[in-house]
Amino acid sequence: MALIRLSKSSIGNEEIKNVNRILKKEFLGMGNEVISFEKKLSKYFKREVVCVVNGFSALHLSLEACGIGKKDEVLVPSLTYVATYQAISASGAKPVSCDVDFETLNISVNEIKKKITPNTKAIMPVWFGGNPSGIFEIYKIAKKFKLRVIEDSAHAFGSYINDKLVGSFGDISCFSFDGIKNITSGEGGCVVTNDKIIIKKLKEKRVLGIKIKKNQNKWSPQVTTQGWRCHMSNLMAAIGSAQFNKKNFLKKKRQKIAKIYDQKLSNNKNIKVFKRNYNQINPHIYPILNMKNSTNKLFLFMKKNNIEVGRHYFPNHLLKKFKSKKLKITESVSKKIITLPIHGDLSEKKQLKVIQCLKKFYV
Ligand SMILES: *Cc1c(COP(=O)(O)O)cnc(C)c1O
Repeated sequence: MALIRLSKSSIGNEEIKNVNRILKKEFLGMGNEVISFEKKLSKYFKREVVCVVNGFSALHLSLEACGIGKKDEVLVPSLTYVATYQAISASGAKPVSCDVDFETLNISVNEIKKKITPNTKAIMPVWFGGNPSGIFEIYKIAKKFKLRVIEDSAHAFGSYINDKLVGSFGDISCFSFDGIKNITSGEGGCVVTNDKIIIKKLKEKRVLGIKIKKNQNKWSPQVTTQGWRCHMSNLMAAIGSAQFNKKNFLKKKRQKIAKIYDQKLSNNKNIKVFKRNYNQINPHIYPILNMKNSTNKLFLFMKKNNIEVGRHYFPNHLLKKFKSKKLKITESVSKKIITLPIHGDLSEKKQLKVIQCLKKFYV
């Protein structure tokens, strides 16, 4: 049997047609296609949206737009992709590693309370596997200590909590549209917020700090802030726009896959599955814990059987650049965690093969 992929883009004729349309126009850079993609997203979130070149830039520019930099501290869970940490350190601020909650795998609320100092300026929670649980408690603490919340919602496009769409409320929410995320624009990302000042700053920062001209007849460029070159292109927006139209279809597929894993694996004593409400959450990854001391072996066993599995994530506080004190749950989880194939094109037949193979490992 062919390789079963952990994750992949799900691309159809709509994306190809859209990209061709842009190629034929010979306007590949940032233009009307980006504006129209932003309008679609904005209508969805009922908030303003700024599209950028990737999720990393969405986080980095958001921090800078909040004025967060040198001597500032940002609370972040160690169990995340290194992009979250690098975005904080790119702003000049210090990522302060927090442990995660064992059941949600999101930043632990108690850890936040413990690690707030006078230098803390923001919390950057990561919605692990698309699960935004803890979000309301986090906003309560942020309000009390006057902190900004910049959500790393890279996993959570299309996720709901208490029937509220992630990104449609709160302070700042950053999404990624990279090739394997819930929807993709090739590479890409966006920032969603109600804060008009942040929106204006982001729009400058993504195009080298160049201020948007009010009077088009007068040649008066102006730059007052550090900018970067990380806008989205028409070519990317063309893919993103086609993906956006099938977001619900793709979400239903992911939710169905997660429910089947839950059902088939939850009574296996060698495996811990995580209880999630997959009618609300759009599962970007599907984590399990291997409760035997054999995760490397399991990883290699699946690979030998032509099944890609993932290890999300290596703790950031164990990396040289971000080295900090022991975080018990993160370290224990990272030794046991395996993520199983989940994407819009995974057939039930292939998924059952993944489940079979897992069970075979434990006999
Ligand atoms: C993908 C991802 C990012 C970064 O997004 P890119 O578009 O790849 O830059 C950040 N945080 C998490 C948790 C991610 O999974």
